[in-house]
Amino acid sequence: MPVELVPELLDILACPNCHGSLAVDHDRDELVCTAPDCSLAYPVRNGIPVLLVDEARSPQREPKPAVKTEAQVEAQADPAPDTE
Ligand SMILES: [Zn+2]
Repeated sequence: MPVELVPELLDILACPNCHGSLAVDHDRDELVCTAPDCSLAYPVRNGIPVLLVDEARSPQREPKPAVKTEAQVEAQADPAPDTE
């Protein structure tokens, strides 16, 4: 379904995450935040932009570094013995 959003609407709409301006990605039918440090892509369903951070697609999903507490590290260092 093609995205048919008038430019005036794009001027009104803003990224709910960073309040930056949005641009239409016609290839994906998404509204993409133009802020470089945000760049969330919001889906457009039935011609209606879904401006919800929960629904947004993050183009660069950075893997979060696994933060281990000392207790978790100890538990992994001393695994339960296999009972065979
Ligand atoms: Zn944004």
